[in-house]
Amino acid sequence: MEVVTSILSLHEARNRLQGSLGFVPTMGYLHEGHLSLVRAARAQNSSVAVSIFVNPTQFGPNEDLDKYPRDLERDTELLEQRGADLVWAPTEEIMYPPGFQTTVTVAEVTKPLEGAHRPGHFQGVTTVVAKLFNVVQPDRAYFGQKDAQQVVVIRQMVRDLGFNVELRVSPIVREPDGLALSSRNALLNPAEREAATVLYRALTAAVEEWQDGWREAAHLRETMASTTTAERLARLEYVSVADPETLHELEDNAERALLSMAVYIGSTRLIDNMLVGVSEE
Ligand code: AMP
Repeated sequence: MEVVTSILSLHEARNRLQGSLGFVPTMGYLHEGHLSLVRAARAQNSSVAVSIFVNPTQFGPNEDLDKYPRDLERDTELLEQRGADLVWAPTEEIMYPPGFQTTVTVAEVTKPLEGAHRPGHFQGVTTVVAKLFNVVQPDRAYFGQKDAQQVVVIRQMVRDLGFNVELRVSPIVREPDGLALSSRNALLNPAEREAATVLYRALTAAVEEWQDGWREAAHLRETMASTTTAERLARLEYVSVADPETLHELEDNAERALLSMAVYIGSTRLIDNMLVGVSEE
């Protein structure tokens, strides 16, 4: 496995790889969620490349960029064990050299949900992913359903800009108690860690109602919200029952829906989601 930093060394290493290339973009501090993407990429391609870059432009001014966990040495060990061929860990100066002035903006699907609460977040994501795709030139790219809106946004960007990349989406990997794996979970203290299961509990409660025949979107949102507000350490940012493709909030019945939510547990912001009436890819 090669670990490179500069764009030139990435190009040279990439050109030595034969056959199809699967690519997993990450912000590092890897966990089994990331590694499930690496496993899928390994199974479906001749070679696997992983990027590790905590992208400052997708963090808002009051967000957790500075405390976002980082451990490049441990990450590269895990990737070596899991059979990655190439790791690109650029610096901020390499990704955004002085004078950088290009952005990629996706319009409609970035407006609701995360986009509504994190202004500029998706422009940061699409700009960096466009650059990653251009530099790495992968055949397939692997993303997690954990960031459901991100998948919709990147799918739109790939279609609109004609990127020659096939997107593959992997299901959410969870802890035994249901908490979705996230690098940010490392920021939770023990009491917060326990409270953090509230996202899973809220989503599961709504999904169980849906399975019992409840369809009113407003009712499902209310179930998610009331489960969350019962948790003392949780502060609800939003709950949503939305069309899985347009991400428009559903007003009436939820036959097919993306149930999603963002919650602060202490000062750590967590997101989670589940689909109903849709088979996950
Ligand atoms: P991040 O490092 O948080 O930017 O995540 C990199 C990729 O891993 C994204 O495509 C995420 O959706 C995916 N990912 C993060 N957590 C999970 C998880 N618990 N299960 C599956 N995929 C995940």
